[in-house]
Amino acid sequence: MSVIFNQSIPGRRGVLLPERDVPEPPPLPAAYRRGTEAALCELSELDVMRHFIALSHRNHSIDTGFYPLGSCTMKYNPKALEVAARLKGFAGLHPFLPQLRYGGMLVQGALAVMYELEHLLCEITGMQAFTLQPLAGAHGELTGMMLVAAYHRHKGNAKTEVLIPDEAHGTNPSSAAIAGFTTRAIPTQPETGMIDLEALRAAMGRQTAAIMLTNPNTLGIFNRNIAEVVKIAHAHDALVYYDGANLNAILGKFRPGDAGIDVMHVNLHKTFATPHGGGGPGAGPVGVREHLADFLPISRVIKRRDNTYALNYDYPHSIGYIAPFYGNFGVLLRAYAYIQLLGREGLIEASENAVLNANYLMHGLKDVYDLPYDHPCMHEFVLSARHQVAHGVSAMDIAKALMDYGFHPPTVYFPLIVKESMMCEPTETESKETLDAFIRAMREIAARAASDPEALHAAPHTTSVSRPDELKAAKDMDFAYP
Ligand SMILES: *Cc1c(COP(=O)(O)O)cnc(C)c1O
Repeated sequence: MSVIFNQSIPGRRGVLLPERDVPEPPPLPAAYRRGTEAALCELSELDVMRHFIALSHRNHSIDTGFYPLGSCTMKYNPKALEVAARLKGFAGLHPFLPQLRYGGMLVQGALAVMYELEHLLCEITGMQAFTLQPLAGAHGELTGMMLVAAYHRHKGNAKTEVLIPDEAHGTNPSSAAIAGFTTRAIPTQPETGMIDLEALRAAMGRQTAAIMLTNPNTLGIFNRNIAEVVKIAHAHDALVYYDGANLNAILGKFRPGDAGIDVMHVNLHKTFATPHGGGGPGAGPVGVREHLADFLPISRVIKRRDNTYALNYDYPHSIGYIAPFYGNFGVLLRAYAYIQLLGREGLIEASENAVLNANYLMHGLKDVYDLPYDHPCMHEFVLSARHQVAHGVSAMDIAKALMDYGFHPPTVYFPLIVKESMMCEPTETESKETLDAFIRAMREIAARAASDPEALHAAPHTTSVSRPDELKAAKDMDFAYP
C-alpha cells in the first residue's frame, strides 16, 4: 500500500467549508506567511477512512487475536468500560474546571471516582493510602523511590543503595537510579526461582535504602519468602518496595500490605483493564503504609465534612508534583468501573482464571520447550528455546513463525536470566479453545524446528513487514521497509 501522500489528487476534498459570512480578516504580515504551499494530502473522506482502516488491520490487537505478551497482561477489556469512559461529564472534564467556585460542583463526580478508587485499592492491596497521579508503572516506581528517599532524608538516614533481584523489570533499577540511588543486583536461586536470601542478607547493610521486589516475579513465580525478605530489610531500617505491576495474579489472594510492604505500585492498565497496546495510556498508582503517607505527591483528593470532594495541596512534607491535574483520568475511571463491574467475587475469579490459563499453557508446552524453572506458575511462565537452538532455531524465529498462525508472539529475550526466553501470559479472558490452538501452533513450530529449520528463518510470510532491521527501524524514522 502506498503512503497517503502518494494517493493525493490535487483539488480533491474531504471537507467543504461554508461560504464566509464574516468580514475578511486583515492579511498576516508577510514575515509570517509561508513561501510555498503546505504539503497536505488532498483526498476524499472515504479514501482517508479506507487508508486508516487498512493501516489498523496491519496491527495485531486483542480485538483481532490472541496476545500472550508476557508481563504486559494484554487482556480483553469489557466494552462497558469504554461506555463509562465516554460519558459526557467525564470525557468533557477540563483540568481548569473550578475546584472551589460553585462548590466545585462540576468536578464532584470525577473526584468521587478518584476518592473511591483510592479506597478500593487500599482494600485490595492492604496499603493505607494511595496516590493515583503516576502515569505508568515505571512512573509509579520512580514516585515510590522518591518517597523512599524523602522518608530516609526526613529521618536523617544516610542511605545510598537499592537492592534489586536480577530477574526484575529493567524499569526497577532505572527508577532507583533516577531517584538518586545506586543499585545492586541480587541473584535468583536456580532451584526455586526466588530471590537468594543468603545473598540478600550479605548485601544488606547500613547503606541499604530499600529492596525492590517484584511479586509474582518476572518468572511468574510467587515469592513464598516474602515475610523473610521484609524482616531482613526492616532489621536494617531499609524499606520494601513491591512492584505490583502484575497484581492480576493475586487479587483477593494476597495483600502486600498484610506482609509488611512499605510502598508499592499497581499497573491499573495490566490489572484493571484499559487497552494499552502501543505504549499507552496507563496509570501506576502508588500505595504506602502510614509512615510514608505524608510524603505522597500532591494533589490528594479529600472528602469534606459536607461530603463533597476537593483536591488538597497542603502537605508540607510532600515530594511535590509528579503529574498535572487528575493524572490519567480515563484510565482511573476504567479501573474504577472494572472493579465495580466484577466486584469482589469477580476479581478473585479473574485472578484464578489467569493463573489456571497460564498453568494450562505451561503444561501443554513443557515437554517440547525447555522450562528452566519448573514450578506451578502464577499468571505467566518462561520457556526457553534452548532445545530448538540445537537445530539453529532461536526464540526470535519461533516468535516470528507464530505470526503466521495469527498469534502475537510471547515476550522474548526477557527476563535476561533465561537464555532464549519466551515469556507467555495468556490472561484470564482467553477460552480453552484459544489456548489449545496456541499450544497446537507452538508444538507444530517445535516439530518444524527439528525437521525443517530453514523454513522458520524466513517467517513470517503473512504479514506486511517480515524481518525489518529492528535497530534501524527504531532509530531511523526515514527507514523504508523492504
Ligand atoms: C509492565 C511492568 C512495569 C512497567 O510498567 P509500565 O506501565 O510499562 O511503565 C514494571 N514492572 C513490571 C514487573 C512490569 O510487568
